[in-house]
Amino acid sequence: MLSGKHYIAGEWLSGPDVFQADNPATGTKLPTKFQHGTEELVDQAVQAANACAEEFAAMLPAKRSTFLRAIADEIDARGDEITEIGTLETALPAARLTGERGRTVGQLRFFADWIEEGSWFEARIETAQPDRLPLPKPDIRMMHKALGPVGVFGASNFPLAFSTAGGDTASALAAGCPVVFKGHAAHPGTSEIVARAIEAAVKKTGMPNGVFSLIHGGTRKVGQALVAHPLIKAVGFTGSTGGGRALFDIAVSRPEPIPFYGELGSNNPVFLMPNAMGAKAADLAKGWVGSLTMGVGQFCTNPGLLIALKGADLDTFVDTAASALGEVGGAAMLTDRVSSAYHDVTDAMAKHALVTCALKRRDTDGPFEGSPAIFRTTAAQWKANPELAEEMFGPAGIIVECDTTEEMLALSQTLVGQLTATIQMDDADADLVNKLRPALEKCAGRILINGWPTGVEVCHSMVHGGPYPSSTDSRATSVGSLAIKRFIRPVSYQAFPDALLPPALKDANPLNIPRLVNGKWQMAK
Ligand code: NAP
Repeated sequence: MLSGKHYIAGEWLSGPDVFQADNPATGTKLPTKFQHGTEELVDQAVQAANACAEEFAAMLPAKRSTFLRAIADEIDARGDEITEIGTLETALPAARLTGERGRTVGQLRFFADWIEEGSWFEARIETAQPDRLPLPKPDIRMMHKALGPVGVFGASNFPLAFSTAGGDTASALAAGCPVVFKGHAAHPGTSEIVARAIEAAVKKTGMPNGVFSLIHGGTRKVGQALVAHPLIKAVGFTGSTGGGRALFDIAVSRPEPIPFYGELGSNNPVFLMPNAMGAKAADLAKGWVGSLTMGVGQFCTNPGLLIALKGADLDTFVDTAASALGEVGGAAMLTDRVSSAYHDVTDAMAKHALVTCALKRRDTDGPFEGSPAIFRTTAAQWKANPELAEEMFGPAGIIVECDTTEEMLALSQTLVGQLTATIQMDDADADLVNKLRPALEKCAGRILINGWPTGVEVCHSMVHGGPYPSSTDSRATSVGSLAIKRFIRPVSYQAFPDALLPPALKDANPLNIPRLVNGKWQMAK
């Protein structure tokens, strides 16, 4: 059923060469031959996106909402097909893909509702004061507008929720930005079916064809050309720190630098507070193992770094975790590249002179296998050896033991940017948590108490981002309604007659949206 072609502005096109996706569970190639992308195809897609950018940005939110909801419906209509190809391409279980599909369509509908509500415009109106002395004040109004064509990179670890119609695409389309999507070679068939859903939604809702294109990779030049294209105005990316940084450097060194929103790596520290450990070390260990091994540890929010006081409670924690992890077998990871990177980093950790290996399995029952591992070191060694803080993308964690709470607090001050930071505490730990909080606020996008960071709720208050290296822009989130802010910019209109103003700023408030008028919020009726 799959064509293997690129979907460029309403047409299915071929490329010069082909690649086949791997089946990670068997290590064999899947049958469909997918076309390589080229710089010419990137140009064709971006030109088409640019040609419809103004029309798409000016569309009333209700019309774009209809489009987003139609994409969600079309994805649902292809649910079984998506799960079938998705499981073959990723080795993720059907239940995970079904859940991820629910999250993806939920996210599209969430953005549809959000743009209709209208506060994302952040419309502000200051009316004229012609009699003001010494100078009259002009009428000045402000709202946010779409940036223009956006490039989006699909992530290997979320074939749906962070891929073709995932969070970056949904928030860019919601903002009014056409999307040129670069597919991930790990799941090209899944991308094609989702692109077919978007194609059907484009037709059903009368959208311009250039509003969405899918280009498969095959060569790195595709992604580089997309970021460098002069008509692309912003980029959304989820993936490795190295890849994200290389593309970020292209984005900011263009003649016209553009924002590059990369969601990169994180080891998501978990602080185990002394009283909580005294009360329930074994339970905490079991909870950690569940979070660490979910999806073979291939989550950007995987809790790969634990910080605790040394002593009997920590020994109980490590023994319980090692025993629970020992029962978790190896499983196929998403790609050969992810699996070999995982083995490289965990092998190096196991050989490190300053690290104790509490557990390391290497099951051989699958070609792209990844098995759990736990390492242990001291706070002094961890701080002195930056390689111990490297992200281990997979089901592995390092436990850092501190001599005192002061050492724990000092260590918290040295953490680099993180997507999340977690605290496991009891009421009696509150004083220590209060002292810890400022350091975590400084380094993390989301701070959790008595939970585990895997699982990112799509909601208005979510931040999925953080200071570098967890992301390339600490002010942004790639999940939740705030994600739309990445793809809009403020524009002021001074002394415009009402008839020439955009609907969001007209006196009569025809969109019925909340607006700040002369310093006071006026809510929608
Ligand atoms: P990746 O290597 O960063 O690739 C992501 C996308 O960026 C792919 O489309 C890739 O194209 C492209 N790309 C990477 N480097 C590039 C460059 N220098 N120039 C142009 N395009 C480039 O990520 P991945 O393949 O998903 O996984 C590899 C590693 O990334 C994992 O082992 C893990 O450490 C990390 N990762 C992190 C997250 C996260 O959530 N933060 C998610 C997934 C993976 P090609 O396919 O052509 O290389």
